[in-house]
Amino acid sequence: MNGVFDISGKRALVTGASSGLGEHFAQTLARAGAHVLVAARRVERLQSLVERIRENGGSAQALALDVCCADSVARAVQIASEPGLDIVVNNAGVSVARPVLEQTEEDWDVVLETNLKGSWRVASESARWMVKQGRPGSIVNIASILGERVAGGVVPYAVSKAGVLHMTRALALEFARYDIRVNALAPGYVSTELNADFLASESGKRLMSRIPQRRFADPQDLDGALLLLVSQAGRAITGTTLAVDGGHLISSL
Ligand code: NDP
Repeated sequence: MNGVFDISGKRALVTGASSGLGEHFAQTLARAGAHVLVAARRVERLQSLVERIRENGGSAQALALDVCCADSVARAVQIASEPGLDIVVNNAGVSVARPVLEQTEEDWDVVLETNLKGSWRVASESARWMVKQGRPGSIVNIASILGERVAGGVVPYAVSKAGVLHMTRALALEFARYDIRVNALAPGYVSTELNADFLASESGKRLMSRIPQRRFADPQDLDGALLLLVSQAGRAITGTTLAVDGGHLISSL
């Protein structure tokens, strides 16, 4: 890849790379030339991703990471940062879908701990290394349109993603002086293996009818936004939220 979107020679950490969007983001960054550090708890899945990336001519390595554990984050970010870290995609995330009257403290804790505090841990620890090494960087927090609008059954998830959007702005303000950019990418409903059956169901069709573009995004639809935010093409972009949602956020009330 040439020009302002080129990230050859950069080192990129992708959390939650053992499935879904994280796996896709890792492959996209590797195709664009980055050495990708793929991180999650299920290391055997990461190893298979690393092999696939290498078979396609890319460069990658697997890192065990639990974003809910400060020691694990410190260890993984240290390995990722030696000899240097340029790009962080804070993608690890979980959801518990249940009406709020049935939700438990554990539901709230696991979602907020993973999505919000986990993203904060990874972003701040990575930035600490970037600052120490005098290295500019780009941090992309994977949020959701549920950080801006609400839906039934996902209170902790929506609150966690709203927190991620505000944290993005606050970190961007503090890190700008170190030439570290922080942005959020907010996908709408993306069709992946995990939700394909639901999206094809009658409920899925009703959901689709409320999206102005009348389609769910494919993981590939996120590539342009991701590459913009992590490359020189986005050098003046920080503290923003980029929604990739077929217009779902501007759906008519
Ligand atoms: P998946 O469930 O497929 O992937 C979630 C990833 O997060 C897994 O790789 C999992 O790996 C990792 N993860 C979960 N908990 C932890 C933890 N404690 N430490 C490290 N890694 C962890 O979900 P998606 O790919 O769909 O979602 C990825 C991100 O995109 C999430 O932040 C989600 O909120 C967001 N998103 C997704 C949308 C969609 O339509 N799919 C829409 C909008 C946003 P492991 O279990 O191996 O640790």
